[in-house]
Amino acid sequence: MRHRIAVVGGGPAGLTFARVLHRLGHPVAVLERDPAPDARPPGGTLDLHEGMGQLALDKAGLLAEFRALSRPEGQAMRILDTDGTVLRDWLPRPDDRANPEIDRGQLRDLLLGPLDVRWGQGVTQVVPGSQDGVRVHFADGRQETFDLVVGADGAWSRTRPAVSPVTPHYTGVTVVETSLDDVDARHPGLARLIGDGSVAVYGVERALVAQRNSGGHVKVYAQFRAPLDWHANVGLTDAEAVRATLLALFDGWDAPVLGLLRHGTVFAHRPLYVLPATHTWTHVPGVTLLGDAAHLMPPLGVGANLAMLEGAELAESIATGPGDLDGAVRLFEERMWARAGRWAEITMAGLERLVSPDPAEALAFFDRIQPS
Ligand SMILES: Cc1cc2nc3c(=O)[nH]c(=O)nc-3n(C[C@H](O)[C@H](O)[C@H](O)COP(=O)(O)OP(=O)(O)OC[C@H]3O[C@@H](n4cnc5c(N)ncnc54)[C@H](O)[C@@H]3O)c2cc1C
Repeated sequence: MRHRIAVVGGGPAGLTFARVLHRLGHPVAVLERDPAPDARPPGGTLDLHEGMGQLALDKAGLLAEFRALSRPEGQAMRILDTDGTVLRDWLPRPDDRANPEIDRGQLRDLLLGPLDVRWGQGVTQVVPGSQDGVRVHFADGRQETFDLVVGADGAWSRTRPAVSPVTPHYTGVTVVETSLDDVDARHPGLARLIGDGSVAVYGVERALVAQRNSGGHVKVYAQFRAPLDWHANVGLTDAEAVRATLLALFDGWDAPVLGLLRHGTVFAHRPLYVLPATHTWTHVPGVTLLGDAAHLMPPLGVGANLAMLEGAELAESIATGPGDLDGAVRLFEERMWARAGRWAEITMAGLERLVSPDPAEALAFFDRIQPS
C-alpha cells in the first residue's frame, strides 16, 4: 500500500528527503511556506562534505551534477590576526573534493528538479493521533491528513511541538550578515584578501568571516557576544547606524579587514540559537523531524550536511525497508539522535573557541580540523 507522506519545509533536509523518495518511486507532498523558490535571498555558500552532503546527493543521483556546479577552489581558507598578519593560508590540492562549496540557490535548484513542491503552503500545526492519520493545519485554514508528516521546517519548526515541547535558546553569540557584490571589479583589494574561499579574523570575543560565493558575490559575517537586544538603540533597518555600531565594535582592527564592513550593503541580524545537544523525544507514530527542526546547532559547516544526509537516509529506510513505516522511522530516529548529539557537542564547543576571550583558541581549533 502506498503511504500518504508529507514533508513540511523545502530546505536542504526536506528537498533531499523528497528527492531520494521520489527517485525510489514513492510520492511525497512537499509543503513549503515560501510562495516561490526565489521569494527570498537563499543565503550564503555551503560546503558539502564527502561523507555527508555529497553522500546524500549521491543517494539522490545528483553527485555528478553537484561536481559540475560546485567550487573546489572555495575550500581555500585564510586566517588573519586583527592587525592583518596572515596566520594561516590553506589552499586545497587540485584534486581535493572533500568539501567543495556550492551556492544555496544552486543546491536548491539541483534538488528541486522534477519535484512538485506546493509553494505558499505555510503549516501552522501538526496534530497526530486521529483515526485517519496525522492532521496538518495550514495558515489559510485548510486541513489535510497524512500517514507520515516529516518536519523539516527549520529552527522555528511548527511540526516540532507535535513531538517535543523543547524550543531553541540563544547562545549569547550574534551574527550580523552583510554582502559585497561584484567584488573583483568593485573591491579588488578585498577580493585579494578573501581569495578563492574564505578569510577569517579572530579577536577577543568577536570574529569577522568573509566567504566567496559564485559570481563575485561575498557574504560577510560579523560575530560577537552580545545580549539579544544589543541593537535596541541602533535600529536594525538603519544600515548606516548598524555599520557604525559594528565599526565601533571592531575598532582598532586592520583597516583593509574593516573594508568588509565599510563596503557591505544590506545588514541582516542572525542571533545564533541552538537546541540542547541531548534533544530527543518519545517516538510519536506518524510524525518525525529532520535537520534544524530536530537539532539546531551553531553554524560550523555541519547543519546543512546533516540535514541532507538525514533526509536521504530516512527516505531510503522508508522505501527499502520491510514496509513497516513506523518501524523505519523509529530506527532512523535512533541513528539521527546519536549522530546529531555528537555534532551538536562538537559545534557548540567550536563556537566557544571561535568567539572566545582568547583568539589563540580559534587558531588551535582550525589547526586541529584542517589537513596539514
Ligand atoms: C550564517 C549561517 C551559515 C551557515 N553555514 C553552513 C555551512 O557552511 N554548512 C552547513 O552545512 N550548514 C551551514 N549552516 C546551517 C544550515 O544553514 C542549516 O543547518 C540548514 O539550512 C538546515 O536545513 P533544514 O532544511 O533543516 O532547515 P532550513 O534550511 O531552515 O529550511 C527550512 C524550510 O522550511 C520552510 N518552513 C519553515 N516553516 C515552515 C512552515 N511553518 N510551513 C512550511 N514551510 C516552512 C522554510 O521556508 C525553509 O524553506 C549555516 C547557518 C547559518 C545561520
